Amino acid sequence: GNGLDIFDEVFNEPFFTKKENKLMKTDVREKDGNYVLDIDLPGYNKEDIKIDLTDGYLTVTAKREEHKEENEHHGNYIHKERFFGECSRSYYAGENVKEEDIKARELLQELKGKEDVTVDGKHIKLYANIGGVKDVASVLANDAAGIGLFRSEFLYLEADNYPDEEAQFQAYKTVAENMAGKKVIVRTLDIGADKQVDYFNLDHEENPAMGYRAIRICLDRRDIFRTQLRALLRASAYGNIGIMYPMIISVDEVKEIKKIVESIKAELTEKGIEYGEVEQGIMIETPAAVMISDLLAKEVDFFSIGTNDLTQYTLAIDRQNEALDAFYNPHHEAILRMIRMVIDNGHKENCWVGICGELGSDTALTKQFIEMGIDEL
Ligand code: PEP
Ligand code: MG
Repeated sequence: GNGLDIFDEVFNEPFFTKKENKLMKTDVREKDGNYVLDIDLPGYNKEDIKIDLTDGYLTVTAKREEHKEENEHHGNYIHKERFFGECSRSYYAGENVKEEDIKARELLQELKGKEDVTVDGKHIKLYANIGGVKDVASVLANDAAGIGLFRSEFLYLEADNYPDEEAQFQAYKTVAENMAGKKVIVRTLDIGADKQVDYFNLDHEENPAMGYRAIRICLDRRDIFRTQLRALLRASAYGNIGIMYPMIISVDEVKEIKKIVESIKAELTEKGIEYGEVEQGIMIETPAAVMISDLLAKEVDFFSIGTNDLTQYTLAIDRQNEALDAFYNPHHEAILRMIRMVIDNGHKENCWVGICGELGSDTALTKQFIEMGIDEL
């Protein structure tokens, strides 16, 4: 096998992920020729996790006591997992990996350090999505040109109470500094719907995906929003931070947000606290935002298309409902036309356009996106 390195890959799988606390190889110990887990994993009994690495095949078997359903954020998608007592997964870790897989990996490695440019000379920003400070190492190791989506809600999901300005400032500053001048686009709080945080005390909703979430909460509970924006602006003095707002449906929302940002900048200036130049953008993840993207483009520096939610709202398919998986088709012509429309409308107003939803990494569509004129993937 490849030694303990395999655990980093395996434990990045959603199956073993708990609220972004990914297990790493340092959590695994060799004992009498076997591997054992050295830490507590919520929801599992340590003794019930069996790790076996034989002839290059790693099999992990875990038993959970409760039978429940969970949604996890993982990388740039939400993973739905149902636990039914005992689960088992096998991973191939051995020497007999397919020749073409090794070649493809090596080819990707060769591209590190090179410019993100197409053969006919178009520059594309290849950015990564992250969920927290600890993901930055992998962004740098894989030579991403920047971070296109920092899902800031994990700072809230991991805490027992509202993270204060200082805690947030430290997190954003650390990411900005480590990225050393490369762009870091932080999305403001996108809580609600699939991402529930107890201390927010949100009412139960019949239809949370269309409910009290994201920018709606922020524009309603201004104290929370202002705290985050102050932390972000302060951190912008330490790197190249961009701020983006989720779930936008109107020009008024954007104007209101910009007013709030301006008032915080004035506050900081008055107190002699530094902040940098920040690009401001919005997520295009509602059909409303697509349809008025010509107007929205006049207000912001960039658009980032959130194809995960855009697909859900356009096709009227709950992205959380596994029974609809066969119908959830982000390649739907309606989605592709919307993306084209957003790019065209953005460019007319000098607003750059990227994709931060999962579709951005769908190589089956990369060529098409480039032909459409996408600026960032
Ligand atoms: C999206 O909706 O495409 C997106 C990137 O945001 P999230 O998946 O966090 O809702
Ligand atoms: Mg979204």
